[in-house]
Amino acid sequence: MILLDPKDLERPENDEGTTALMQATVAFFEAKGKERLIGDYYARGWYADFLEYAKEHRLLARMCTPSGEGAADARWDTWQVCQFAEILGFYGLQYWYTWQVSVLGLGPIWMSPNKAIRQRAAEALEDGGIFAFGLSEKTHGADIYSTDMVLTPDGDGWKANGRKYYIGNGNAAAIVSTFGRFADSDEYVFFASDPKHECYHLIQNVVASQNYVSEFELKDYPVSEAEILHRGRDAWNAALNTVNIGKYNLGWASIGICTHALYEAIAHANNRVLYGSPVTDMTHVRRMFVDAYCRLVAMKLFALRASDYMRAASREDRRYLLYNPMVKMKVTTQGEEVIDLLWDAIAAKGFEKDTYFGQAAVDIRALPKLEGTVHVNIALIVKFMANYFFNPGDYPELGQQSEPRNDDFLFDQGGAGGLGQIQFHDYRKTLERFEKIANVKVFAEQVEQFRTLLATDPPGPEQMKDVDFLLAGGNIFALVVYAHSFSRTRRSMASTTTCWARSSTSWSGTCHGTRSPSPCRRARPTSRSRGVGTWFGGRSPIPSDTLGYGRSRYARSTGPTRWRRRTDREDRSPSAVPCSSRAGRPAGQQVGAEAERGRDRRRRPADRPERHGRCQQAHDHTRRACCPIASGHLEEGVAERVSSPSGLSRWPAADRRRNGSAGRVPNGRRP
Ligand SMILES: Cc1cc2nc3c(=O)[nH]c(=O)nc-3n(C[C@H](O)[C@H](O)[C@H](O)COP(=O)(O)OP(=O)(O)OC[C@H]3O[C@@H](n4cnc5c(N)ncnc54)[C@H](O)[C@@H]3O)c2cc1C
Repeated sequence: MILLDPKDLERPENDEGTTALMQATVAFFEAKGKERLIGDYYARGWYADFLEYAKEHRLLARMCTPSGEGAADARWDTWQVCQFAEILGFYGLQYWYTWQVSVLGLGPIWMSPNKAIRQRAAEALEDGGIFAFGLSEKTHGADIYSTDMVLTPDGDGWKANGRKYYIGNGNAAAIVSTFGRFADSDEYVFFASDPKHECYHLIQNVVASQNYVSEFELKDYPVSEAEILHRGRDAWNAALNTVNIGKYNLGWASIGICTHALYEAIAHANNRVLYGSPVTDMTHVRRMFVDAYCRLVAMKLFALRASDYMRAASREDRRYLLYNPMVKMKVTTQGEEVIDLLWDAIAAKGFEKDTYFGQAAVDIRALPKLEGTVHVNIALIVKFMANYFFNPGDYPELGQQSEPRNDDFLFDQGGAGGLGQIQFHDYRKTLERFEKIANVKVFAEQVEQFRTLLATDPPGPEQMKDVDFLLAGGNIFALVVYAHSFSRTRRSMASTTTCWARSSTSWSGTCHGTRSPSPCRRARPTSRSRGVGTWFGGRSPIPSDTLGYGRSRYARSTGPTRWRRRTDREDRSPSAVPCSSRAGRPAGQQVGAEAERGRDRRRRPADRPERHGRCQQAHDHTRRACCPIASGHLEEGVAERVSSPSGLSRWPAADRRRNGSAGRVPNGRRP
């Protein structure tokens, strides 16, 4: 069975240590029991018992210390990480979270040249320590350029002043990897702070949960060279590269949550007898379970495939930078869909206080929003669109990467820029292999139409500034990548194509042109397809390179290592910054000078009215098109086709939309 079975954790690829670790973790939760797990969840008590268990079994020490930094049995092994994250999600997101923010906190440490701190971290892990990642601030959200954690020179070192917000484990971490900037040079910096220090003021837990998601303030906190983890460009890269590692785990938390919720829901529905038959005898309930199951299997297949790219990554092969945000964004939003479907099937049961489902329904919503929202991650992946569709690279076939080994590259990822240059293997070859499946054929035709649209009719200037438009296109792109990458085996393809092919049907035929008889080999790259790069790469009015996302608003000052924030004046000056790759446009210019030009354009009518008209039409179609899978339009469409003679199947999707409980809405707007 592809889904997690806590009673059967033996896997041929795992070494003894991994299997034993997973079995011990499951045994801890099973011994605690569902009643106490749920009781603790609602009592919102700190999970000291879990941390004690983790210390005793050296859980974090073994899983979160790269080879060579600690004990001989320690390694950072993504294959192991996937299984562990899935188990923690299965038993409760709170347990996953305390481990996850430790992963994030350790990122800048393991990437640091500061050997003494690495040593300190390894010792703390052996001692059962947890860690924290101090990036976010209350007023700035995703805009981490604007950090107000400031280090002012003081003798041989500095005094740090500023507040951090939403910092998990900030109450009890052995080390908080804290992001800020130097007051004098404006360079970014990552430094280690200690919650036990008297100048570290813990203010509050900003959430009502078992997790401690802290607000804290550093007041004249002394920082010496010994606490510095990274400076300048390296500090920025460490932030982004850490999130690259961490955000992958969010998909696995979703998979674990959905798996547990599926088991609980189907057990309930099958045992509930209405009108003399189990609820699972009703065809619409069966459909919802099948739909939920297929989506969940697809989530897992995609996340597994993404782990291969993470483990095989190198300076030459950076394809993981597309698959990571896809796991973060697409797998987690599919997780929401799964829970919605299950909830519709079990109805009132999902509210009860003694079900796992009650917490799953709440916690599943968190994952698309943390570590960069869905929007932020789509804004990131659209940078790959041009090469993905029009400039594939040659790569040898990549097999499953499940062997026990340390993933060295993850802590040596190098610069976070150059996303637009990354090439991908040709998705069309994969779709062609499966074209005998009718739904795949339909899907391939739709992909080809989208590709033709990109190649022949790039958007006008107004549309280029429209982030909503960008997100709509990005959602369609995400669907292509998702379908391409989880289709590794014919079996998986056959079992899951129904879901996405049906989902994508709503945007079929909305693009220009007629359907091609051989859909996978139509639109050739033309000079006009460069528009895709411009469309999705360079002209967004907001920076899409936050939290992992390519070039920043940096200015290079006196040397290559002196990377710092750009001043407002530099933002408006095209001359002070290096050139960006694709459009020959100075990097960062889009933020200042481009924005001014944009304001100027807004005063004038659109300069390409005929294209604008057609593209607006495409935009409208696209907006409708990309939504179904995310917004419940799919269910509505299906609902219209489903007859309900008994009147039993009052369709819940409409209710969800009416009361807004679906959580996400198309393109960020309430319908
Ligand atoms: C429970 C919890 C735990 C957390 N733990 C940590 C932690 O341990 N450490 C830490 O550093 N942070 C942590 N965070 C912060 C978390 O990572 C951010 O909340 C998250 O990245 C989203 O930021 P925001 O909520 O401030 O949204 P905002 O940045 O305020 O965004 C507002 C809106 O603008 C959109 N938007 C912003 N930028 C872009 C863009 N570039 N492109 C397109 N749309 C954009 C967003 O999608 C959103 O719709 C935590 C948050 C929570 C709720």
